[in-house]
Amino acid sequence: MDIGIYMKNCIRCGKALPKANDWLCKECKEHIKSIDKTIKKFHKLSDKERENIVKMSSEEFLDYCKKDFFELTNEEYDVYAVKSYNENKEKSNDQYNCSICNNKLYVQDLIWDNEKNIFVVDHRQCECRKVRISLQLIKKSGLERTIRDYTFDKFTTKEKWQKEIKEKALDFVENGIKQEKWFMLSGNSGSGKSHCCTAIVRELLYKAIPCRYMVWDSEITELNAIVNDPIFATRMNELKKIDVLYIDDLFKPVSLNIKPTQGELKRAKDIIDYRYRNKLTTIISTEISIEDICAIDEAIGGRIYEMCKDYYIHISGTDKNYRLR
Ligand SMILES: [Zn+2]
Ligand SMILES: [Zn+2]
Repeated sequence: MDIGIYMKNCIRCGKALPKANDWLCKECKEHIKSIDKTIKKFHKLSDKERENIVKMSSEEFLDYCKKDFFELTNEEYDVYAVKSYNENKEKSNDQYNCSICNNKLYVQDLIWDNEKNIFVVDHRQCECRKVRISLQLIKKSGLERTIRDYTFDKFTTKEKWQKEIKEKALDFVENGIKQEKWFMLSGNSGSGKSHCCTAIVRELLYKAIPCRYMVWDSEITELNAIVNDPIFATRMNELKKIDVLYIDDLFKPVSLNIKPTQGELKRAKDIIDYRYRNKLTTIISTEISIEDICAIDEAIGGRIYEMCKDYYIHISGTDKNYRLR
């Protein structure tokens, strides 16, 4: 019985085949048979030469072997196959193009096995997996648009206090997170609070840590309106349980005459308390100081202070308000 795959032409030289049940013509078959199969024995090479082989592209490897694809020995073919696997390009499912795995998410490594005296193949997940997760997280975080502009590189540090804020924020990304600390910047609008907090969140997202952005007043208004809705608990849980929550403008607008409503205080207590008890990183920007928050509610203020005390900066006075100058 036939298997039904017939070649009309030799796959090596392209010449028409007399019998349509072969891959190679007679000449090519003989040529391949006559090839010195002992030319490249990898165990006879130096470590340096083997390192070079690992670095070669599939085409460079054929050049090095002075052979075409059909002439490779089994040993050489195994090496070639890894190279062509890695080089094989696939279409990206998101906007990210990875030049390491060519969007396959897996990479094969050639590793020399000293005991077996052969190249073995190791399969690993590509590093871009983390980046791809981060990109999805950025979309979900609510910061997709601002994250491009609010980077640490673009944070102005002309003044000493700006340098201090940046240093503190970078230290928080590096160490504060590991120590389960919180971060808080308070002060006038226009002092770069949002920029700095967003830059922190950006770094965390690129480390593939799930973060959520919360614009305090608009989200609280929405929540207060759906208290009796079944979706309320889901929405609250999202804010309570996310790995990192960035609250932008906590208790805004608060002034001498506008105090937070009972509903707002209840939501704040619920979120802050849950995150405090479960040691979940929280980043807060607000126009009011920690003393003001304590005056509004001592329990909330106390918890925030306890978690933020190493990473709390209050920016005061118009001289520090660089956007206004
Ligand atoms: Zn041929
Ligand atoms: Zn990749």
